Amino acid sequence: MNAPIPAPNTFRAQPDERGHFGAFGGRYVAETLMPLILDLEREYRAAKADPAFAAQFDDLMEHYVGRPSPLYHAERLSDAVREGQPAGMGAQIWFKRDELNHTGAHKINNCIGQILLAIRMGKTRIIAETGAGQHGVATAAVCARFGLPCVIYMGAKDVERQQPNVFRMKLLGAEVRPVTSGAATLSDAMNEGLRDWVANVHDTFYIIGTAAGPHPYPEMVRDFQSIIGREARAQMLARTGRLPDLLVAAIGGGSNAIGLFHPFLDDADVSMLGVEAAGHGLDGSEHAASLAGGFPGVLHGNKTYLLQDDDGQIAEGHSISAGLDYPGIGPEHAWLRDIGRVEYTHATDRQALDAFQLLCRTEGIIPALEPAHAIAAVAEHARTMRDDQIILANLCGRGDKDIFTVAEALGVAI
Ligand SMILES: *Cc1c(COP(=O)(O)O)cnc(C)c1O
Repeated sequence: MNAPIPAPNTFRAQPDERGHFGAFGGRYVAETLMPLILDLEREYRAAKADPAFAAQFDDLMEHYVGRPSPLYHAERLSDAVREGQPAGMGAQIWFKRDELNHTGAHKINNCIGQILLAIRMGKTRIIAETGAGQHGVATAAVCARFGLPCVIYMGAKDVERQQPNVFRMKLLGAEVRPVTSGAATLSDAMNEGLRDWVANVHDTFYIIGTAAGPHPYPEMVRDFQSIIGREARAQMLARTGRLPDLLVAAIGGGSNAIGLFHPFLDDADVSMLGVEAAGHGLDGSEHAASLAGGFPGVLHGNKTYLLQDDDGQIAEGHSISAGLDYPGIGPEHAWLRDIGRVEYTHATDRQALDAFQLLCRTEGIIPALEPAHAIAAVAEHARTMRDDQIILANLCGRGDKDIFTVAEALGVAI
């Protein structure tokens, strides 16, 4: 799919010391935030080099999160997609089952890493932003687990739309603060989180939920989520004796995708595909495809592709999947796209809904609507590949949270 990758290469060596992935990333923050960011970076470097930190992380991954998540060959889905194709065509479809994690998605991997860092830094209060509520729930869970108070910033509009997750967070002991500024959604909640952090830095740690924000967040979140790709790489080699031909993952801010991709970046024969949410289509503004439909700018402390109007105002994304409507994308993806190492595509609400139902019926797995976008792209690509080729997709979340949205979209009363 992609142009041949020159070998040896060092795609995994980014970012540079100031957090740049090529022209993207960096730390575009107010003066007052700078010392916090530098302190966080210093502490993260120390933690990264400390085997005790890694041991603690691994132990919680195994016994609290339930890792390693299985690697699963979806044979009936592969057959269904292969149907009607010429003999020898139709790739094998495999899934990394991160939907089986505690709290139902990959978010918990990152939350465990960051709260361990917070404790190491002596912080006693946790804040986070959330859109659909998945990162808020995972953050609230780890805060309960470690007995730390937790404030979750959530756009007032999202609080209305995501009541079950608001209640989950409250059950877990978090305080949910509705944010009414701007469009009262995820982007505004993140601004509010950054504001709180500046005001309360003496005791507060900000757990960002995706591979975005000022350096070192994109690198740090990537490193914690890379457990997905490290496990998958070892599991694939053990099961098949080879690496996959194509990796596929859905992209909101890009954390589950970079977590899957990163450990494979220097494997020149492994192609990669990130799938953005095209909502009602890319021709209007009702989508969340920052790479395909946005242009570079600065938001939340880093430079990357953003959904913006003609005046550079941040536009609100739309997707049937609330977890994909972040108006930006992690800076490492912006760079990987520009250098051609990873290809990016998109799937509409309709395509995601079709893929969602296909997976339910062929494999007995109800996926979240986010990975349903990835599955739509998997089905399309599988048909163009040979049956001895392997696609590995990240099944990054389970669909229990989405059944009401799906019912409404299908016109079914439940
Ligand atoms: C939050 C979420 C996403 C989007 O976030 P990324 O940082 O792009 O991974 C995707 N899938 C699920 C299940 C989510 O909860």
